[in-house]
Amino acid sequence: MAAYLRPSVKAAGLAAAGAGVAYAGYQHWNSTSSFFNTVHAESLPSDSQAALKKVQWKGFTELKLESAEMVNHNVRRLTFALPDDQSITGLPLITSLLTRHTPEGAWVPVFRPYTPVSGNDETGHVTFMVKKYPNGKGSGKMHSLQPGDTLLFKPLHEFDYKPNQFSTMTLIAGGSGITPIYQLTKAILNNPEDKTKIALVYANNSEEDILLKNDFDELAKKYPGRFTRLYTVSNTTPQNEGLYEKGYVTKEILKKVMPQKANKVLVSGPPAMTESVAGAKGGFGWTQGSLGGILKELGYTKEEVHKF
Ligand SMILES: Cc1cc2nc3c(=O)[nH]c(=O)nc-3n(C[C@H](O)[C@H](O)[C@H](O)COP(=O)(O)OP(=O)(O)OC[C@H]3O[C@@H](n4cnc5c(N)ncnc54)[C@H](O)[C@@H]3O)c2cc1C
Repeated sequence: MAAYLRPSVKAAGLAAAGAGVAYAGYQHWNSTSSFFNTVHAESLPSDSQAALKKVQWKGFTELKLESAEMVNHNVRRLTFALPDDQSITGLPLITSLLTRHTPEGAWVPVFRPYTPVSGNDETGHVTFMVKKYPNGKGSGKMHSLQPGDTLLFKPLHEFDYKPNQFSTMTLIAGGSGITPIYQLTKAILNNPEDKTKIALVYANNSEEDILLKNDFDELAKKYPGRFTRLYTVSNTTPQNEGLYEKGYVTKEILKKVMPQKANKVLVSGPPAMTESVAGAKGGFGWTQGSLGGILKELGYTKEEVHKF
């Protein structure tokens, strides 16, 4: 699988290079579990809201790991403490946090982005779900941290979204590519002013790998007219046969969730999935590349699709 630098990651990299260090950032998407943020600033009493303060993200900010737990065979949920109990990340939607650490014995720091699954207005902490890759530098670090250990973070904005910008959206995710999609889905549905209708297609290797499934199922129950979701699983078992679509994302699956064309389609997953659904990204992942794959066959234009 090709590893590549992202444009926004590149900017951070240039800054880091200016500071005299080499920089590397990669995008890898894959797999798994479950967590749901019910705290929303709009639901807080106004005196509580007044006390909230955004973290001042200037350069890299050190955060301390509060707690961590495995949620399946290779995904760990990590909760880091914000500077104090009344702090919120205050990040705009679809913003990841770029981590930075220097492995023992190395002089070159490692940079990897991870997308919070906690709300940007949640007080006191920020939570991630991180899939571990064999010999993965970033994911290995995230899986090795113990409560009390610290890590450096810096915001990395991925995609601009304004409420009601699109009347319908189809979100296509694979594996751990679900984290920015989850952030967006939750924010849209929990905002009473936003009337956007969302259809999610989420592909995984196995049932166990479906990340945040309970939370998406809850959202579908809570917002039946606005949110539908469909899971597709490559390796079904006799026990779950028939519960999910089987195999990769196909034209038939997309037609099922979006009989009419959506106003905007977001694709977030491993490069092989992105390529088959929407064509490969360009410039080693730095640019959107031309539109291809299933979405092109379905009549979408480049402007109607965004690839993460
Ligand atoms: C904007 C953005 C947000 C992200 N958010 C999250 C998130 O919330 N949670 C999360 O878990 N990840 C997320 N990622 C991916 C994350 O940044 C890292 O790319 C991932 O953790 C792998 O990095 P690593 O250093 O562990 O592996 P590397 O050291 O880069 O690679 C180790 C080995 O694993 C292989 N490998 C790595 N990834 C894959 C893959 N997907 N499929 C097959 N082989 C692979 C590599 O080719 C290599 O051989 C995000 C990426 C981006 C760009």
